[in-house]
Amino acid sequence: MSITSFHPPVRILMGPGPSDVNPRILEAMSRPTIGHLDPIFIAMMDEMKGLLQYAFQTKNELTFSVSAPGSAGMETCFVNLLEPGDKVIICQNGVFGGRMKENAERCGAVPILVQDPWGAAVDPHKLEETLKSHPDAKVVAFVHAETSTGACSDVKTLVEIAHRNDCLTIVDTVTSLGGSPLKVDEWGIDAVYSGSQKCLSCTPGLSPVSFSERAAERIRTRQTKVQSWFLDLNLVMGYWGGGGKRAYHHTAPINALYGLHEALVLLQEEGLEKAWERHQRNHQALGAGIEAMGLRFVVKEEERLPQLNAIAIPEGIDDTTVRTRLLQEYGLEIGAGLGEMAGKIWRVGLMGYGSNPRNVLVFLGALEAVLH
Ligand code: PLP
Repeated sequence: MSITSFHPPVRILMGPGPSDVNPRILEAMSRPTIGHLDPIFIAMMDEMKGLLQYAFQTKNELTFSVSAPGSAGMETCFVNLLEPGDKVIICQNGVFGGRMKENAERCGAVPILVQDPWGAAVDPHKLEETLKSHPDAKVVAFVHAETSTGACSDVKTLVEIAHRNDCLTIVDTVTSLGGSPLKVDEWGIDAVYSGSQKCLSCTPGLSPVSFSERAAERIRTRQTKVQSWFLDLNLVMGYWGGGGKRAYHHTAPINALYGLHEALVLLQEEGLEKAWERHQRNHQALGAGIEAMGLRFVVKEEERLPQLNAIAIPEGIDDTTVRTRLLQEYGLEIGAGLGEMAGKIWRVGLMGYGSNPRNVLVFLGALEAVLH
């Protein structure tokens, strides 16, 4: 039997990401592939830098998209800002803080963990106390929007504390960019990374990043070589660094970048504040429906993310049966709990293009039908 073309079904993606991709992005990605050093492509990359600066609310010169998923954005920040023996404080309140620790260890750095309960925001007082015991720490890292639990942390306050202790900051905004207020310059973030597949509604596989001048200086003045050739920003800067010159570093994922460009154009057309408001509005609508069904959110109201809704699975309900029926009968994907939340929560994404009233109603209707 010969294998034929792959035709995936149409789904409604309401999990933790990828989110539904805007058809305009898919159309943009099907445009002709041109060379990545073609002047027309380079002009598009220059535009993309401006669009990313808008999305991140920064003037950082070193703002670009890593040619790999969010985890590579995370790794880019860690391998470039940490050297062997450096102490890094990592605030962990879910799965992704754990991945940060892994990264730090593989850099030969010394991670100090500040633990908070899963489902709660990072506690600024704990960070403050930890820094008193570790005044030699060089970097503080934490997740803005913890996708594994739906909790949002107070970036501005955490960055202020880190800076008072002379630490650089690495902030994970994979799930927040485009969905929740994020102001890189105003809040003074030094290194930030995100992902294309959440509130930007692009296909997965790209990681927008941005570095402050202070962070870029730390990278330029390292004592040791960055252990990863591909992610070494001293080399990548030759391609993305501006000044009009773009030297070959790796073959850019050309059509994927058309998609990200379109996603960012869409964000600019809507306006960042309007996008944040829309995410909030649809989250409120979902919340009203959830409560009317006698269900409850896991995260307390003031720390809830609008784009990732963690719902406690009611007593006596089988997690897998519900998610399987939603997928098979309604073509609707929601997420399972991760780690210690496995079997206890459902994660319902209202991200980017997928944050709309239709998805809210389809989910509530389908869940009601499956539960009763
Ligand atoms: N950080 C957070 C908060 C995430 O939610 C994710 C992915 O879900 C990642 C990092 C890793 O991104 P990726 O799966 O694109 O590598």
